Amino acid sequence: MPEAAPGCDEFDPNAKTLEQARAAVLEACRTITQSEQVTLEDALGRTLAQPVHARIDVPPAAVSAMDGYALRAADATDGACLALVGTSAAGHPWDGELQPGQCVRILTGAVVPAGAELVIMQEQVQRDDESITLRNGGLTPGHNIRGPGSDTAAGSPLYASGQRIGAAEVGVLASQGIARVSVLRRPRVAFFSTGDELVPIDQSLGPGQIHDSNRHTLRALLSAYPVEVLDYGVIRDTEAEVSRALTRAGADADMIITTGGVSVGDADHVTRVLQASGQVGFWKLAIKPGRPLAFGQFGRAHFFGLPGNPVAVMTTFALLVRPALLQLAGRDATEPQTVNARLLEDLSKTPGRKDFQRALLETDDRGWVVRAAGGQGSHQLRAMSEANAYVVLPRESTGARAGDWVEVLPFREIFPEV
Ligand code: AMP
Ligand code: MG
Repeated sequence: MPEAAPGCDEFDPNAKTLEQARAAVLEACRTITQSEQVTLEDALGRTLAQPVHARIDVPPAAVSAMDGYALRAADATDGACLALVGTSAAGHPWDGELQPGQCVRILTGAVVPAGAELVIMQEQVQRDDESITLRNGGLTPGHNIRGPGSDTAAGSPLYASGQRIGAAEVGVLASQGIARVSVLRRPRVAFFSTGDELVPIDQSLGPGQIHDSNRHTLRALLSAYPVEVLDYGVIRDTEAEVSRALTRAGADADMIITTGGVSVGDADHVTRVLQASGQVGFWKLAIKPGRPLAFGQFGRAHFFGLPGNPVAVMTTFALLVRPALLQLAGRDATEPQTVNARLLEDLSKTPGRKDFQRALLETDDRGWVVRAAGGQGSHQLRAMSEANAYVVLPRESTGARAGDWVEVLPFREIFPEV
């Protein structure tokens, strides 16, 4: 027998590192190729399946950037007096042609009349009934004019396929009069909780029971991604029920996420069913929280068997399910950005697993500082509400001292707002 490694409870030579697990997940979860047409209203958060080109110039004509007066450049001399011959308002162009010595009252967004070469701000003129007197000269052609296509020129490439449609993209597409776009089909994600102790949230608890919180957490986490969710509810701890649910999900979904039942206890049927009827990717992860975790394939779906403990659910979702979802949806799945922060208190740790401790990241006059937040048990979900980041302690680390610089993963990187 080899000598037990330090912290033998923590050390498992067969456990995968997070980096190995991420690589295996990204290798398996290929971007969905099917696409569909959706209205612009339904396009938010989706991924373009085809490149989009500008159809029209935006703005379509030269328009004024100011409320003022449109005139010829040759007339733009200090003290010049120009005859006021009309008004161009947004949506109501003046359709004459400006002659020398004339000006047109013009409002923001209104079309610049033919013959006019610049717009002078109303604050820079003296207005009389039928004329204006310039209080400023030397303005050059194009002054305060937004040229046609100065935002987007007709025919220019707007977006490549793979572009995520956010609020700005929705606006740009709308400005082009594009009402429907071709986007990648949303991955279908089936999820269920396993456990004989679990009771729906609208029922009171009997002896030994707890409310099923994981399924609600998962649904909330999934709402930030362009996915179609299939909620299979609570599945009891029997091989037959787990098998039935997985078979159904394996036929319906692109991804299955379960919580609980992935250890090697008597009630851990997910492990057994997956071993019997699916393909198992890996079982043990050298991270804390989140050691027992299954990844593989069941039917046509990628399978994530997350641990039962609620903090482990959120952590493994952020570290492994998130990149898988991003890649399935054709989005950038590169690792989230961490920051270095100065630790305000000692943190203890046993070597063997990369540790994600719940923490509060703040700034003080020295820059980023971080302290532990809430209880560190993997069942203490309330600490996730008190925290805004994880302190990431390396696998072999034995802890960190106050004053040390530590790696911190802010929640905003991994738990996007919905
Ligand atoms: P398991 O991985 O099934 O052994 O579960 C580990 C711990 O997580 C146990 O204390 C379970 O009661 C708890 N747990 C499992 N599933 C849920 C759930 N859906 N909601 C809340 N706690 C859960
Ligand atoms: Mg269980």
